Amino acid sequence: MIDLHLHTTFSDGVSETADIIKEAITFGLKAIAITDHDNTGSYAVACKAAEGSDLEVIPGIEINTVWEAHKQEVHVLGFYIDPYEVNLQRVIQEHRQRRLEQMDALAKKFQSKGIKITLEDILAQSREEGSVGRPHVARALMAKGKVATLSDAFNVYLNRKADTYVSRTTVSPHEAVEAIYDCGGIPVIAHPGEMEHIETLVEELMDYGLRGLEAYHKSHRPAIIEYHCNLAEKNGLIVTGGTDYHGEAVGYANALSRLRVPEYVLPRLKMERDRRAKGLFKVS
Ligand code: AMP
Ligand code: ZN
Ligand code: FE
Ligand code: FE
Repeated sequence: MIDLHLHTTFSDGVSETADIIKEAITFGLKAIAITDHDNTGSYAVACKAAEGSDLEVIPGIEINTVWEAHKQEVHVLGFYIDPYEVNLQRVIQEHRQRRLEQMDALAKKFQSKGIKITLEDILAQSREEGSVGRPHVARALMAKGKVATLSDAFNVYLNRKADTYVSRTTVSPHEAVEAIYDCGGIPVIAHPGEMEHIETLVEELMDYGLRGLEAYHKSHRPAIIEYHCNLAEKNGLIVTGGTDYHGEAVGYANALSRLRVPEYVLPRLKMERDRRAKGLFKVS
């Protein structure tokens, strides 16, 4: 069993990184990639927690981007990245700044509508070195008794159409794919089934180093999984899969039991990593 997509307190997950690793070891996972949004802080913590076990910790990330041509959010996963590489860190820092600006603007917008919530209230829901986002605003609204649940917060205040919504600028999916590729990582489109114009996107991103599609995701019905496996094969891409667990009440064991990533996924991912490491794509 492997899990190549999940979140911890370094972004909008609820579980601590070390706790997730302990659970993964208990469940006998072979490999795990923690893919926090725009953040690589989990990696060092995860490696330490996995020391002495058989669990392979794959350095990962999920970069949130917007594809301006279609005004669409595209999430790009990166595996076997170098979490400390300068350009990747530049992209991460840029996102961090934009996220903080968005949170400040959201707090001001809420106040202008008579909803008393401050930037500090929002930041108090997130760890300092983590990526702050709308789920933290939702939790702050819950703590203040303004909404009962996370989905209420999104349905009433935080969706793109709400008059309390403020957008943030991000990098393009092309730039995210390139940053992951250039630091030696394997760039993969996350939950492609949630997207429109996927074939155009794949064609465009392959020029920047795209290497895979996340065919296995909890939001994908079997026909969607098959479609993306076929699309990947047609383009010589690999497929990946993961729980996208955020600490939901059902628990991690339950999330894992609902998703079966086929055994062949991990060796194919490693082959991609090895091809990159050997420089087989370079023209000499
Ligand atoms: P942000 O990073 O600020 O764009 O927030 C995106 C995150 O919000 C996603 O990764 C989801 O975890 C979460 N999210 C988005 N829509 C909803 C929703 N309707 N209910 C609960 N969580 C959501
Ligand atoms: Zn998330
Ligand atoms: Fe995502
Ligand atoms: Fe995710």
